[in-house]
Amino acid sequence: MRIENDRKLDFDDVLIRPKRSRLETRAEVDLKRTFRLPHAGFEITGIPIIAANMDTVGTLPMAGVLAQHDMYTAIHKHYDLDELKKADLSGDYHFMTFGLVEDLSHIKKVMDAVKDKGINKICLDVANGYTEIFVNFIKKVRAQHPDCVIMAGNVATADMTEALIIAGADIVKIGIGPGSVCETRSVTGVGIPQLSAIIECADAAHGLGGLICADGGCRTSGDVAKAFGAGADFVMLGGMLAGHTECLTEEQLKALPENNNHIEYYGMSSTEAMEKYSGGVAAHRASEGRVASIPFRGDVKNTILAILGGLRSSCTYVGAYKLKEMSKRTTFVIKYAK
Ligand code: 5GP
Repeated sequence: MRIENDRKLDFDDVLIRPKRSRLETRAEVDLKRTFRLPHAGFEITGIPIIAANMDTVGTLPMAGVLAQHDMYTAIHKHYDLDELKKADLSGDYHFMTFGLVEDLSHIKKVMDAVKDKGINKICLDVANGYTEIFVNFIKKVRAQHPDCVIMAGNVATADMTEALIIAGADIVKIGIGPGSVCETRSVTGVGIPQLSAIIECADAAHGLGGLICADGGCRTSGDVAKAFGAGADFVMLGGMLAGHTECLTEEQLKALPENNNHIEYYGMSSTEAMEKYSGGVAAHRASEGRVASIPFRGDVKNTILAILGGLRSSCTYVGAYKLKEMSKRTTFVIKYAK
């Protein structure tokens, strides 16, 4: 047994120190970023916020609206091929999600089906990205799709961030346990406070020319700013984008009044999700997600504008003309407990 004694931080433990700035209005702030992908070999440009690949968040309607704002969506993996083929999606801002249960031929089938829409981004998502099986899976998917962007995770430490990049990931998804409907920390005792995980993993990834996506734990636009300040290249949001029109089916929208204008936001490893997609929780597993009943919040557009407005304001407070400069200009102050 060993104890790591240095303090690890969550978003709530810090604030961003304001700095002298020449910026006159928030409108001057450029939130778009261009990244070169180390394996795929080309550049992508957009506002680096990604809707989570959860079936209540990473929906096709969500992808449509976010793309209008140059933001990304990891489309969840439970759509069938016909739905994907029919979907009115074009190009640059969409990741298709797969887990370890999807084999290479399925991944090829889906990526071939969306190719003519210009979709060339893959999200390989598992709860525990630390297994050798997952590393080998990334290698195989990279060999099959040399020209696609691959985002893979989740991990929360430098060693494994490096391992996934070396295996073929362009972007490593960071976060073990910070999610708003995640129960990994209480069920397993495992996790790393998210702000420290981002700082550690960004450093490791950037050293190899790779990128990271901070996944989970953002509850406010201030948290999103802290994630970028800590070095995240992308930030993935679940709960902050949940509960909107774009998250619901027509039947769910109709049923809103009888549900007191509330909807369910549940973890993808929750009992609810496993019953829906895997016929229940397997005997050897425990649920690591929970259900939250959240108020319906209308169209996601308003939430998006509030998040982007908050982020622009954070940039003006530290004097960053571009989101790209945010981490260089960030000093965190630690709020010690009273
Ligand atoms: P949020 O933005 O809601 O705080 O976090 C979203 C992230 O939580 C997702 O992108 C995913 O990584 C994680 N997540 C989603 N469902 C579950 C779950 O059932 N269990 C755990 N441990 N994490 C989950």
